[in-house]
Amino acid sequence: MVKGGRIAGVGREGEIPESRRAELRIQAEGMAVIPGLIDTHVHLAQSLLRGAADDLALVDWLKKRVWPIQGSFTEEDGKLSAELSMLEMIKSGTTSFVGVDVVSRYGFDGIAKAVSEAGMRGALAKTIMDSPGYGRKGSIMPPGLVEEKVATIREAKSMIRKYNNVKGGLVRTWIAPRSLGGCSKELYEEVGELAHESRSRVTMHLAEVREDVEYAKKNFGTTPFEFIEKVGLAGTNSLFAHMVWLTDKDIGNVAKTKSNVAHCPSSNLKLASGIPRIPELIEAGANVGLGCDGAPCNNSYDMIREMKLAAVIQKGRLLDPLTMPATAVLEMATLNGARAMGTESEVGSIEVGKRADLVLIDLKKPHLTPYRDVVSNIVYSAMGSDVDSVMVDGRLLLRGGKALTLDEERIISRAQESQDELISRSRVSA
Ligand SMILES: [Zn+2]
Repeated sequence: MVKGGRIAGVGREGEIPESRRAELRIQAEGMAVIPGLIDTHVHLAQSLLRGAADDLALVDWLKKRVWPIQGSFTEEDGKLSAELSMLEMIKSGTTSFVGVDVVSRYGFDGIAKAVSEAGMRGALAKTIMDSPGYGRKGSIMPPGLVEEKVATIREAKSMIRKYNNVKGGLVRTWIAPRSLGGCSKELYEEVGELAHESRSRVTMHLAEVREDVEYAKKNFGTTPFEFIEKVGLAGTNSLFAHMVWLTDKDIGNVAKTKSNVAHCPSSNLKLASGIPRIPELIEAGANVGLGCDGAPCNNSYDMIREMKLAAVIQKGRLLDPLTMPATAVLEMATLNGARAMGTESEVGSIEVGKRADLVLIDLKKPHLTPYRDVVSNIVYSAMGSDVDSVMVDGRLLLRGGKALTLDEERIISRAQESQDELISRSRVSA
């Protein structure tokens, strides 16, 4: 039972008093109700790159495809890509996300407007940089993506001023310093100060590939996470994506500093970055959420499929079928995600008083029948297309599989044209 955007009652038919019956009743027989899924690491600008950067190693992937195409974005592409990403997220049960990698050329105004219109709970993380590098020699970004230090900070401040906590808190702004090599040491320190002053949360890619470790060792004499601790960015308001290459000491320090982790299993496998030690991080007491990353490295924004992968890769790695059970994985995709976003008192579980971010999954499907432990069926057998309805803050965004706030037909047809135009403008050989 939902009232004023919040969960007002939880129970079976008949358990909720007649006086509190709702005006709108949703027949959900044969469906499971779960908390809205929370994607803690998603590139809104990359859904337009789907299929345009496959089967490449990370550096070639960035240099030959991802950066040149993203460096040719117009603001119209930025908004359209955000809409396409959100359409896919809503249709597969995601209600909250951390949108990383929002560079100036994608146009914040259009993206923030798209999030408001779509009705999702979205954090938009402004990319901060002062160097065109990326943790290794020769990885230089195309001019279209490079931002100067003064401009990048000024724009982050303006974005925070304009968009933090608008739409009743649905839209938030975060700060996203680029990976090691993309910012000077001083800039990371400045980001820490800005985050503190503006009470913004911080997210960044960290310890994703082995080269990140080599870069940190050579340039700072530390591990990537030790460097982050040194510049004051570790802590409860920070969310680090990937964290594949951590030492035992780093794992302890992630937990000790209460830093959050965004685990992106598809991306780590497809780009051959490695398999992060997630059960070890959880065991140490770290908070780990789940993320789909981007279309060129996943290639979908379907958190239900991501849950299955998060469970099975660790069982295979540790030769232990008991590790990462279904309930822990569903929690990773919901409540842990909310903790990583600092919204756990509002969303992430179905409890009276929390905001009504809810998802209905249709279990009347051959691949979901029969069911006994519904959580197991959702994690191991379901897929995003089994989502029937989605509600955020008490507002229906999807009903009967049909998107209510985004124009699906227009977005899909325009996305194809837009990718064709981007490929020809950026002159990549795809
Ligand atoms: Zn990423």
